[in-house]
Amino acid sequence: MSDSSFSVVQHWIDGALAHGSSDRTSPVYDPALGEETKRVLLANGDDVNEAVASANKAFPLWRDMSMAKRQQIMFAFRELLNDRKDELAAIVTSEHGKVLSDALGEVTRGLEVVEFSTGFPHLLKGEYSENASTNVDVYSVRQPLGVVGIISPFNFPAMVPLWFFPVAIAAGNTVVLKPSEKDPSAAVWLAELFTEAGLPDGVFNVLHGDKEAVDGLLGHPDVKSISFVGSTPIARYIYETSARNGKRVQALGGAKNHMLVLPDADLDLAADALVNAGFGSAGERCMAISVAVVVDPVADELIEKIVTRIRSLRVGDGRRSCDMGPLITKQHRDKVASYIDIATQDGATVVVDGRGIEIDGASDGFWLGPTLIDKVAATSSVYTDEIFGPLLAVVRVASYAEGIELINASPYGNGTAIFTNDGGAARRFQNEVEVGMIGINVPIPVPVAYHSFGGWKDSLFGDSKAYGAHGFGFFTREKAITSRWLDPSHGGLNLGFPQSN
Ligand code: NAD
Repeated sequence: MSDSSFSVVQHWIDGALAHGSSDRTSPVYDPALGEETKRVLLANGDDVNEAVASANKAFPLWRDMSMAKRQQIMFAFRELLNDRKDELAAIVTSEHGKVLSDALGEVTRGLEVVEFSTGFPHLLKGEYSENASTNVDVYSVRQPLGVVGIISPFNFPAMVPLWFFPVAIAAGNTVVLKPSEKDPSAAVWLAELFTEAGLPDGVFNVLHGDKEAVDGLLGHPDVKSISFVGSTPIARYIYETSARNGKRVQALGGAKNHMLVLPDADLDLAADALVNAGFGSAGERCMAISVAVVVDPVADELIEKIVTRIRSLRVGDGRRSCDMGPLITKQHRDKVASYIDIATQDGATVVVDGRGIEIDGASDGFWLGPTLIDKVAATSSVYTDEIFGPLLAVVRVASYAEGIELINASPYGNGTAIFTNDGGAARRFQNEVEVGMIGINVPIPVPVAYHSFGGWKDSLFGDSKAYGAHGFGFFTREKAITSRWLDPSHGGLNLGFPQSN
C-alpha cells in the first residue's frame, strides 16, 4: 500500500511536524474497524541525529530558564491537557481500541503526573550544612542530565509517556520520545499541546520508529539516559545495551499478575475485581490480573460469580459505550486466541471461550471476548507466558502457603493483589510477596503520582522506578559543593586528606 492513500503520522522535531529522510512507514490500524487508517514514519539514523540535535540545542536555554518561568509553562500545559483530555482519549481509542471511558482514565492518570511535576521546585531542593568544618559549608544541588530518551509501549500511548516526560522536562532536561509505532498519534498531540503551552522548541521531540530508531537512541553519545517500558525481552536488551553505552537506564518489562483469593474474602468483591482487572482494556495492561490463585474450597462459587459477570459484558467498538474493546492487531488477537487451544491440550477447563463472541461493531475488528480458564497447571504456557489479552486463568491451591509459593516462583514481579477479610493474612502477604506493587482488596494497585511505579525481578531492570521521587532522582544528577570564603593566605600547605575541624 503506498503512503499516499493514507495520512502519515509525522515526527515532532524542534517544535514542528517533520518528515525526516526515511522512506519506511508502518501501518496504524483502527482495531475496532479492523482497518488500516494511517501510516507512521519509521525513523532512520539521520532522523535520530536530527531529533537529538534539536534536543541538545534546546538544553542550555531550558536548563537555565528560571524555575518560576518553567513552572508557569508546566501549569499552562496542565490546564490545556485538562481542558482537552477528551480529544486525547478519542485519539487513543481510535488507534488502540480501548473503550473511551478507559482511554479517559489513562489520560487522567497521566495528568496526575503533570500535576505532581508542577511542584518540581520543591522536589529539586538541595541540602545545606553550615559550618561542616570551621568556616566551611557543604551543600548539594540537583541538575538535569541533558537529552533523555523515552521509549514507550502500545498499551498506554498517552499515560506511559506521561509517566516520564513531564518529570524529565520539569527537571530541566530535553526529551526525545519514541512512542509505539502501533498507536503513535497521542505522543505527537501531547508534544504539540506542550508547545502551545509555551514550551520552547526542541525541548520535547517525538520520533517515530522501530528497532532502528531505538538503536539509534541507545547508541547516541548525546543521549544521557533511557527510560523504557515494554516487554521483558526488549527491556532486558535496552537495559544491557544502554548500560554498556554508559547511559543511566530504567527499563520496565512485562508482567503476569496474580490475585490471591482467600476463602474468607468477600467473593462478590473479588469477582468484580477479577472481571475489571482481567478484562479491562481487553487485558492489555501491565497491571492486568491474568491469574486468579484461589484457595479452595471457594473456587467453584467464585467461578460462578465471574461467569455471571462475564455474560453481562458488552464487547464492541469503544466509541459505542461498550465495556471491552478489541485487541491491538489481528496477529496479536490470533496469538492470544491460540492459548485457548493450548489450555485444552494441557488439560485445563475452558469455562468461557471468547472466540466467536457477539460484537457491537464491525465484523473485521480484532475481537476476542473475555475468556475464563479453570484448573490451569503451573507448567502450562497459559500460566507461564505473558499473554496480554482477555484471558483469565484460574489456578486452584489448597492453602495461603501454596499460593504465595506459586506467586514468588514467577519470574515477573510487577503487581499482585490479595483479597481477604483477614488483616493478619494481608499483612503477612505484603511482607512476604516478591512483587513491587501490591493491592489489598484493590485489584490494580497503580501508585498515585507522588509515589513511584515499578515492579521487581523481570518486570524492572535498573534501580529507578517511574515518576514520584524516583522519577526526579532518575532525571537529575546531584552535585555536592564544599565551600569556604576566606582569605587564601589563611590556608597554608597541607597534603594530608581533608578532615573536618
Ligand atoms: P514491546 O516490547 O514490543 O515494544 C515496546 C517498545 O520497544 C516500542 O516502542 C517498540 O517500538 C520498541 N521495540 C520493539 N521491539 C524492539 C526491538 N527488537 N529493539 C528495540 N526496540 C524495540 O512492547 P509492546 O507490545 O508495545 O507493549 C506491551 C508490553 O509492555 C507488555 O509486555 C507489557 O507488560 C509491557 N508493559 C509494561 C509496563 C510496566 O510498567 N512494567 C507498562 C506497560 C506495558
